[in-house]
Amino acid sequence: MIYVTHSYLPPLEEYVSYLTGIWERNQLTNNGPLLLELESRLSAYLGGPRVQFTSNGTIALQLAIQALNLTGEIITTPFSYVATTSVILWEKCTPVYVDIEEDTFCIDADKIEAAITPRTSAILATHVYGYPCDVVKIEAIAQRHQLKVIYDGAHAFGTKVAGRSLLTYGDLTACSFHATKLFHTGEGGALIAHTDEMAKKIWLLKSFGHFGDDHMMLGINGKNSEFHAALGLCMLPRVTDFIATRAQLYQLYHNELAGLALRYPVMPAGIEYNYAYFPVVFENEAQLLDIKQLLAENEIDARRYFFPSLNNLPYAPGESCPVAEDIATRVLCLPFYPQLPPMQVRRIAGLVRAGLTRKLPVAPCTI
Ligand SMILES: *Cc1c(COP(=O)(O)O)cnc(C)c1O
Repeated sequence: MIYVTHSYLPPLEEYVSYLTGIWERNQLTNNGPLLLELESRLSAYLGGPRVQFTSNGTIALQLAIQALNLTGEIITTPFSYVATTSVILWEKCTPVYVDIEEDTFCIDADKIEAAITPRTSAILATHVYGYPCDVVKIEAIAQRHQLKVIYDGAHAFGTKVAGRSLLTYGDLTACSFHATKLFHTGEGGALIAHTDEMAKKIWLLKSFGHFGDDHMMLGINGKNSEFHAALGLCMLPRVTDFIATRAQLYQLYHNELAGLALRYPVMPAGIEYNYAYFPVVFENEAQLLDIKQLLAENEIDARRYFFPSLNNLPYAPGESCPVAEDIATRVLCLPFYPQLPPMQVRRIAGLVRAGLTRKLPVAPCTI
């Protein structure tokens, strides 16, 4: 079976060498040396922001909402993983959906201002598939209306805009290091901030709100362990190679699928892309289901990601978003990870081509 992704695991001896240290120190969590080392190496990799390692990307988003004291309405994207909306609801705020751009599938910055009301406190947008939101426009809107900006950067690790890590835009960016992501720690995530003061607040929020016997604010447990940090330390030096291999496979897919009636998100100019996913957009949902089925029959697992459009969630219905609803019914992510053999890329693309160009059996005329 070929899955849509496949988690990289470092050589076991390398991980075990970190375990040896954990066994010697007998410190398993609560800001151990491996966690502090990972945070500082992540900060260096990202160009110097304050990085707080968390137990997952979803709690990082929740910590962001808490850290910025958000209330009322949060303008958000309907085209994301469900967690982007669920954190807003979980924190007792109201998601207000703004439709996405035809090109990048990220929130359409030109439609944000029309959705702002006196109750709006922030914009929470996702860098979909690692493509950047229009960070410059969004910053200008936020300044004009005194709104906070949080990015869901779960897909964005490794992408750069104007030479700067995409994870360093906005007031705060949450990242996921889940096993399925480009850089992972098994489970894990991070909240990326710009000042020591904010990093301290996030540290307190993720550590039950107290330091020793000093209880300073309401907090929760969003910490992560030495074991997860160790995995991250093994992975981080390999990210550049992962991205280079992904870029080659991406090009190969494109070449093999050339000439078919497929659409792709458009890569904005001037970015360094991380090649996080390989989404293709079919002409209609029936075609998508047909190809997904054909791939499944050949033991290939392609995923509808993202589906449904979040404004159609039964527990958070929202404004109609025609572009997101349309894309969500037609987009399929093909298997895509550095260890995927080029031969399999050719085979998968060949199946898509065969499926799209095969002559459907003509129903016999019964009249
Ligand atoms: C994976 C993902 C999340 C959730 O991250 P976890 O680490 O699994 O909690 C949130 N948003 C997006 C866009 C994601 O892809």
